[in-house]
Amino acid sequence: MDLPLTGEPLALDLINTLGGSPDGPVDHLATVEGLLKWLRTQSHRLPQPDTPLTEADLAAVVDLREVVTAVVDRARRGVEPPGHALLALSEADRLASPYRTLGWEEGRVVVGAERGGDYRSALLSLLAGATIDLLAGPIGTVRDCEGPGCCMLFLPAHPRRRWCSPELCGNRVRVARYYRRHKP
Ligand SMILES: [Zn+2]
Repeated sequence: MDLPLTGEPLALDLINTLGGSPDGPVDHLATVEGLLKWLRTQSHRLPQPDTPLTEADLAAVVDLREVVTAVVDRARRGVEPPGHALLALSEADRLASPYRTLGWEEGRVVVGAERGGDYRSALLSLLAGATIDLLAGPIGTVRDCEGPGCCMLFLPAHPRRRWCSPELCGNRVRVARYYRRHKP
């Protein structure tokens, strides 16, 4: 798989950069290049680095991913997350102060969320802030993909969605079902 599932709430996209896929475990943030590639897929909602990313930037994002995963995984099941993870998430949120940008598109004001500070602080605080929004919002409806071996998380827009991606897991399951039915 080239790229992880994207297009879910930012916190889930971050968690999904590390996961089992039907093809085995994949870490899309194993290298600085991997992080850069993932950031490009998020260019509509995350700032892009204007200087080269460092190993320290990568380590900081990976550490935050661990925290986000621990908190979301428990919170969505109604289990109390570890106190240190909640604290770390809140601290990351505070790394850079939030501000809103205002634009005008198609006859209405478009409000964007931004963060001040240096690139790494802005990135970490945006990821933490997006996670906190999810926790304060639709966390209870986050769902696991039902694909065998797949542990992607998604937020279903309609209650019947069962797969992270109909092309990947949905198809795989349909094909397997077809072969089971047509076994001689
Ligand atoms: Zn899946």
